Amino acid sequence: MKRILVSGGAGFIGSHLCTRLVNEGHDVICLDNFFTGSKDNIKHLMGNHHFEVVRHDVTYPYSAEVDEIYNLACPASPIHYQHDPIQTAKTSVMGAINMLGLAMRVNAKIMQASTSEVYGDPIVHPQPETYWGNVNPIGFRSCYDEGKRCAETLFMDYHRQNNVRIKIIRIFNTYGPHMLPNDGRVVSNFVVQALQNNDLTIYGSGEQSRSFQYVDDLIEGMIRMMDTDDDFTGPINLGNPNEFSILELAEKVIAMSGSKSKIVFKPLPHDDPKQRQPDITLAKEKLGWAPTIELDEGLRHMIEYFKDYKI
Ligand code: NAD
Ligand code: UDP
Repeated sequence: MKRILVSGGAGFIGSHLCTRLVNEGHDVICLDNFFTGSKDNIKHLMGNHHFEVVRHDVTYPYSAEVDEIYNLACPASPIHYQHDPIQTAKTSVMGAINMLGLAMRVNAKIMQASTSEVYGDPIVHPQPETYWGNVNPIGFRSCYDEGKRCAETLFMDYHRQNNVRIKIIRIFNTYGPHMLPNDGRVVSNFVVQALQNNDLTIYGSGEQSRSFQYVDDLIEGMIRMMDTDDDFTGPINLGNPNEFSILELAEKVIAMSGSKSKIVFKPLPHDDPKQRQPDITLAKEKLGWAPTIELDEGLRHMIEYFKDYKI
């Protein structure tokens, strides 16, 4: 049994990770300021003596004796991370410094939840970990993209300079239960709109593509990565290589939910990446990992979840 800190533990991915870790018998501290997280996501863990929640903003230092840290604190949906871009950059950068400082003091192993956004609007396709990316440093997405890139830099420097044991994962678009109905990302938006028979809002022409990963596959990859030898730091891509256009996704959601919704087209946000697909050769080799849940199955779970959720 390990003592494990999950920052951002009340968010979409964090809540699934906390559940998995508690179920495996570990002692889990969930650190969250509830900016985009929700107590509903972790209510099934409340009262479990292996689980603690601490309301805390990672831009301030925090101390606890732990063996492992998963650093997930950061809003991930463009509408939320652009709401207060300065706080987003501070969360990524100061949050990384505070969590790395803690890892160094207590000799914990620490994982950074980085993102496919470090590749920006990629010119290389699909994206291997060796690709340095194509990122606008001064745009509306930069608070997130550059914040996450700087966090990766800090992780590598704490590793090289102070021997901190680090793991960096680059997560590609992930969806599943515990996304909030107002999260703003495309899968939850479309499912909620379809179930309410509202118009599905495609930004731009819908020809841009993404590769969608179901959350259970990601959690499995994260646990396997944390358990690799100390000399393997990553970065490593975790995503589902099956790529869909946003228009295909919208049509699929309407068909699968039996919705009467129509599709409407809205302006494309600034710097919206045109394509994204992970090269997961490294994850297959190092973790023996590949996604097992394809989009149709994942969408069925998502539709059931939001049917039961009081939107
Ligand atoms: P989310 O917004 O649901 O969760 C983020 C959590 O962090 C929330 O609970 C929020 O309240 C908390 N948080 C935000 N700022 C904080 C702060 N200053 N102090 C403490 N807590 C704070 O997003 P998610 O999809 O669960 O993403 C989790 C992590 O994974 C993020 O770091 C995100 O960048 C990364 N990621 C997610 C995806 C994806 O597709 N879901 C893709 C790439 C990377
Ligand atoms: N998108 C869309 N309609 C929505 C929400 C998003 O067409 O209601 C588009 C968005 O412009 C982008 C893609 O879907 O091209 C994925 O957006 P999301 O915010 O989920 O993730 P990210 O852009 O960070 O990959």
